[in-house]
Amino acid sequence: MRTWIKDPRAIFADGAERGLVVEGTRIAGLVARGETPERIDATFSASGHVVLPGLVNTHHHFYQTLTRAHPSAINKPLFAWLTALYPIWARLKPRQLRLAARLALTELMLSGCTTAADHHYLYPEGLENAVDIEVEEARALGIRMTVSRGSMNLSEKDGGLPPDSVVQDEDTILADSERVLKLFHDAARGAQIRVALAPCSPFSISKDLMTESARLAQRYDCQLHTHLGETEDEERFCLKMYGLRPVDLLEETGWMSSRAWLAHGIHFNAEEIARLGKARVGVCHCAASNMVLASGICPTCELEAAGASLGLGVDGSASNDSSNMMEAVRHAFMIGRLRYGAGKVTHRDVLRWATEGSARCLGRSDIGRIEAGYEADLALFELDEPRFSGAHDPLAALVLCGAHRADRVMIMGEWRVVDGQPVGLDLGALIAEHSRAARDFA
Ligand SMILES: [Zn+2]
Repeated sequence: MRTWIKDPRAIFADGAERGLVVEGTRIAGLVARGETPERIDATFSASGHVVLPGLVNTHHHFYQTLTRAHPSAINKPLFAWLTALYPIWARLKPRQLRLAARLALTELMLSGCTTAADHHYLYPEGLENAVDIEVEEARALGIRMTVSRGSMNLSEKDGGLPPDSVVQDEDTILADSERVLKLFHDAARGAQIRVALAPCSPFSISKDLMTESARLAQRYDCQLHTHLGETEDEERFCLKMYGLRPVDLLEETGWMSSRAWLAHGIHFNAEEIARLGKARVGVCHCAASNMVLASGICPTCELEAAGASLGLGVDGSASNDSSNMMEAVRHAFMIGRLRYGAGKVTHRDVLRWATEGSARCLGRSDIGRIEAGYEADLALFELDEPRFSGAHDPLAALVLCGAHRADRVMIMGEWRVVDGQPVGLDLGALIAEHSRAARDFA
């Protein structure tokens, strides 16, 4: 089956003025100006659509959709925000996580996201199969996912930040990491599901767990993920606990490679940026979360210039409260302008970060671009709302006028969003069920 996505109003790809051809799950080729593709079975007219590579979200905590806009956490910086929420999160049950994952994945998909990464690090008793639940939900929705097997083993009793009831010991974490890698991780091109290992953050894990996770990632050829350089509190904690700055902790534990991507990456000095870039470490810029928690601004341009992969993330829906990838693109654009001035960080830069850059963070070179041989993951936006009326450059309009809902989303060659609605899912019923779960939970 060869489908021609024909004559887009605009497309974020060079040499594809007349669109692209999808064959099976891949992009078979681009159609340049004046060309007509051969052997076409079906045609989709995209004359009203701006076509992007599917957006790739590189940082989230799905379960936090249950504590959006929670009164005991709003208006607080990171550590105070975390300690207010940990006791609530400690009550998380499998069914609540399932609904949270379904809701977050659907919300992301509706915003044009075709690959999602979730960082799940909460393992209270009874929630041992958290990764399994997220994989099942991603498969049911047909979205691509990197499920990060998160972990915490440093609780209050050992000088860490989280309460004792949500952490596991190192042996349990490593054994379960291997279990889920064997069960779900697919390192092949075109994979739907990948697993990453993700010790939570310097203030909730031991140095040894970092080292052992890196060894395991090497053995199973998977990515490594953690929060790093998010706040000055974290930096002080690392100096006190380990006598090391956060980047030195990465170095000592075998994380300085393209296998690792870091959430936030704000508080690095120039020498650390150079080291991270040289090692091709990935950094996920979570602009909304950083603004809400007043954590600081990621030095995106310096990191990219140094050689780091730069991706975007919405972060957990308690610090951002929204899982909208197109909004994340606009946030990155605006804060980028504020930091670097009006000539730098263009709409094309932020779209590149949200697609190809994010894909590189996840260790993937098969998604994130509209190009022959890449996976057929696409996000199509219409410009038919009042906010776009009068817009001239359609691609710039997506970012500048604030697109936030895709009209169509294709993942692995299949339409998963049609007319702004998820295919085969009752959105109203899901919202009702998820809201109920959130009320019971919090
Ligand atoms: Zn996070």
